[in-house]
This record gives sequence, C-alpha cells and structure tokens, in this order.
Amino acid sequence: MIIDRIDILHLKNPFLHPFETSFTRFVERDVLIIKVFSEGLVGYGECKAFYGPLYNPEDNGTCFHIIKNIIAPVILHQEIRDPADYMKKISFIRGNRLAIAAVENALWEIHAQREGKSLKTLLGGTQNEVKVGVSLGIEPTVTALLGKIEKYLAEGYHRTKIKIKPGWDIEVLREIRRHYPDITLTVDANSDYTLADIDLFRAMDEFNLQYIEQPLAEDDIIDHAVLQKAIKTPICLDESIVSYDMARHAIELGSCKVINIKSSRCGGLCESVRIHDLCMQHNIPIWVGGMTETGIGRVQNISFASLPNFTLLAHDIAASNRYFKDDITIPHVNITDRCTLIVPDETNGVKYEVDEQAMERMLVGREVIK
Ligand SMILES: [Mg+2]
Repeated sequence: MIIDRIDILHLKNPFLHPFETSFTRFVERDVLIIKVFSEGLVGYGECKAFYGPLYNPEDNGTCFHIIKNIIAPVILHQEIRDPADYMKKISFIRGNRLAIAAVENALWEIHAQREGKSLKTLLGGTQNEVKVGVSLGIEPTVTALLGKIEKYLAEGYHRTKIKIKPGWDIEVLREIRRHYPDITLTVDANSDYTLADIDLFRAMDEFNLQYIEQPLAEDDIIDHAVLQKAIKTPICLDESIVSYDMARHAIELGSCKVINIKSSRCGGLCESVRIHDLCMQHNIPIWVGGMTETGIGRVQNISFASLPNFTLLAHDIAASNRYFKDDITIPHVNITDRCTLIVPDETNGVKYEVDEQAMERMLVGREVIK
C-alpha cells in the first residue's frame, strides 16, 4: 500500500459522567484520530493518549509531534507492505508507543480491506464473542460506589473492578465484600502505592480478589516481584507491560501472574499478538484493558480480544453508552444481554462503520499531512 495522506483529527467527546482515577478526574475524551489514505482506501486508528502525560509519559501533544514530524515523513508516498513492514520502518523510534500504535492500527484497517478479511481473522482470533467487565472510578462515598456496583451487577457484567488510591482501599473493599461476598472483584491502583504498603496488600488477601492491578510504579517490575512473593492475590501488570521484552522479564522475575494487554501501550497489534503468544506459553491469563476509547479503538480492541488465550478473564471493553452519549461508529458498540461483545468477522454480519458526521460534531482541530 502506498500511503497518500495522513489526517490527524483532534476530537472532544464529553463523558456522560466524570471518571475519576488515582491520577485525574476526566470530564471528556480528548482524543486524536489518525486517518490514513492509501490508494482509494481509508483506515482509522485511535491514539489512546490523554490530554496530559497522566497514564504514561506520552500525551496528545507528544503523539501529534511524533506522528506528524517523525512517522509521516518515513511512510508518506512510500510502499508499506503490511503493518509488520511499517513496524520495521519506524523501529528507529524509541518509546512513543501510543503514537506508533495509532498509525499501526489505521494500517491494519487498510490491510484488512486489501485482503478482504476481518481484523479478527488477520490477527488469528478464534472467539465469536468476548466477556465484558466493568471498571468503576473513585466515588464521593462508599454508598455511591455500592449503588454503582449494584447497577452493573444487575446488568450482568462479568467482573467488577474498582479503582483504589491511598485512603480509598481496604475499608472500601471490606464494605463491598460485606454486601457482595462472592462477586468476581478486582482492584486497580494505577501505580499509587510503594513497597512500604506491603502490609496493606497482605491484608487484601482476605478479600479473595481475582487480581490487584498495577499496585506499584510503572517502571518497577523488581518491587512488583517482591510484592508478588509476599501476597497470595495475583498481581496483574498493566502500565509496566510496554513491550514483549518487558512482559518476558516480568514473567521470568515472577512480578505478576496476570497481564492486562493494552495493545496501544505496547506499540500496536503486531507487538501485542507476540505478548499474547508469550503469555499463552507461560500460562499467564490475560485480558484487554481499556483507555475510555471512542468506538474506533473499542472495535479494534474487540477483535484483539478474540485471540485464543483471552478466555478466562473479562475485558474492560464496555458498551459505548457506558461512557458516551455520542460516539463515532455506526452502530455504537453495544453489549449483548449476556454482557458480551460479538466480534466482527466475515461471516456474522457484524460491521462497524466510522461516523464522519459525528466526528465533525466533535472536531476541534485537523492537521492534513500529504
Ligand atoms: Mg489499569
């Protein structure tokens, strides 16, 4: 495929309800959509960065710079065989994986159109539908959180995850377990603790959590190995797993027993399929994490989640209306009454189109590179 043009669309889509994590309170999804034009075909990729370097070192500003000034000059008007060929051509770039993934995802879409196959088929997906869990932010009161848990349990979500931060952790869990002793429950700390909190995590063993997600620093898999040896509850690494090699090191060190693969955080789907295969060899259960994506990123996550090692754990790929009133796919991503998502493929008739008019409504900036 010859790359003719790359548009970077800057959109803002307000959240239905603000979403609070240990690092910020989000009121809107401020997002870059990468639109790649190639020989009459168009592919879209969603950049998963936020407005600031809150989740990892990248943000929309750094991604805009890397895509416009570093990636585009390398691929524009060049022949790119497939996404793997793109990854080779830009392999000189250090880090900046969210930016790399945004373009890579768009190229997968063009590749799928050229091959006449679904993304699921091209990635090696084997599942027709995938299970959905819910991720709940920090609420003003425990009562408010219990109300949310009740609501989503009634809707049938397969796992309840709550965000924790110092001061909003053990007592909250105690209250949840008092009301719901048996639900599948997990916590996500988004790196807000240190090894000084080891006793707190030991105390969490009594709550029978499915896993504790990213308790310690993003760049520290050594301390995670110490913590994992000290507690029974599996640690799930999220922010720490930025590449195949990092996943390999974490598994060898015993830093985790579960991995959350966000393909964008690992530089795209090519690298993430390798991490999937590695985890399968080592019996490490995995699941697909979310970044409060718009429909474009959400649909690509569903296809990735259809790979064969994603069977045990529920994913953070909620219905679009969990976060947004408006979205940029037709139809919006919706869950079944079994709280699953149907994976689009060649045979089941499930198809998502990009809603250009919705994108125009949310547009705050457009950069055309050709
Ligand atoms: Mg997480």
